[in-house]
Amino acid sequence: MPDLVTHTATAYFLMRSDSFQRFRVFFYLGAILPDILARPIHIMFPQFYLYTIAIHTPLFMILFTLLFAEFFQTFRLHVIKYLLFGILSHFFLDLFQKHITDGYYWFFPFSWRSFEIGLFWPELPVRLVPVWILLVAATEITLRLKRRFTRISS
Ligand SMILES: [Zn+2]
Repeated sequence: MPDLVTHTATAYFLMRSDSFQRFRVFFYLGAILPDILARPIHIMFPQFYLYTIAIHTPLFMILFTLLFAEFFQTFRLHVIKYLLFGILSHFFLDLFQKHITDGYYWFFPFSWRSFEIGLFWPELPVRLVPVWILLVAATEITLRLKRRFTRISS
């Protein structure tokens, strides 16, 4: 699991365009949702690991998204779409991480085989957190200044 800052920074750069402005918050939520749902339960109840492992799986996230979207009557399909793409970005990054034991069970409950590409250990993204924060801050400041100067000159 890359850390939440790495997931959020990735989501930020994918959704920064103004054309995503209305619903991008759901993408941001989806980008961190698998970890913010699974990790606290895993930390509080480590003895139930084999049960809580199902939370960080595509099937659980799809079911959770469908349930969550029921709270939105008017733009439910947008919520589903943005949440699922955010979750997809999360799982895409997780796919590149190495694990000492099994990785993630992408096809749970149909298969207990885990699969990962394994390019980096979990510590690497944590070391890069200051870089992500600087990049996001620099991008945001630049875009806001650009917007302000465009407004002043027109
Ligand atoms: Zn994760």
